[in-house]
Amino acid sequence: MSFIKFSRISKIYGGFANESTVLSNIDLTIQNGDFVTIMGPSGSGKSTLLNIIGFLDSQSSGSYYFDGLEMKDYDDFSLAKIRNQRIGFVFQSFNLIPELTVADNIALPLIYTSNAPRNKEVDLKVGSLLEQMGIPDKIHYFPNQLSGGQKQRVAIARALVNDQDVILADEPTGNLDSATAQQILDVFYELNKKGKTIVLVTHDLSITRYASKIIDIDNGSIRQN
Ligand code: ADP
Ligand code: MG
Repeated sequence: MSFIKFSRISKIYGGFANESTVLSNIDLTIQNGDFVTIMGPSGSGKSTLLNIIGFLDSQSSGSYYFDGLEMKDYDDFSLAKIRNQRIGFVFQSFNLIPELTVADNIALPLIYTSNAPRNKEVDLKVGSLLEQMGIPDKIHYFPNQLSGGQKQRVAIARALVNDQDVILADEPTGNLDSATAQQILDVFYELNKKGKTIVLVTHDLSITRYASKIIDIDNGSIRQN
């Protein structure tokens, strides 16, 4: 059974006179434990592809199978549950909530899922993730008190708090200097070694040596290696 499978997926924006095809009949398979990199020029559809994989957007045509079941066979509740419990997102701009502490930012998807107030279990989970990310001392900080690399570590911890098995990262090093970028790429590499499926949009060629699949996207089509 394929884990994530696209069959002739297309994405078309606009309509009539201003129609533009961003993805054209894409076939793609991602296996459990893969490390996938997506590269391509700006505007080539990298984010669109990632957002469709993560159910943040939907295709115009074609079929998307997750865990062997076609997406259209999942009801809204199941889709929301998969998105929350199976898939973690990491973005270029970190997307942390400035009014919340590091701990509260990380716990957000957990509280959203269980609808429960903060408790000891949540605090333990947050603490262990921060430990894993190498910044346990930042637990009570606010995002504006962190460096870019630290913010991204918090965002990665948030993407792992429900023990998600798929991490989708959209240019997560785009706002970081090259040394920090390398450290964050190493974090993804370590997560992959621990069994997480990683799909990473990046311009960093050095990371492709770790990739089990390299996707180049241009003019609506993809090349896979
Ligand atoms: P990338 O991430 O590779 O830079 P995107 O996936 O963000 O590319 O965008 C691909 C193309 O789709 C771009 O031409 C962009 O303008 C267009 N696009 C993205 N989102 C929308 C939208 N919501 N409506 C119309 N066009 C869009
Ligand atoms: Mg993009």
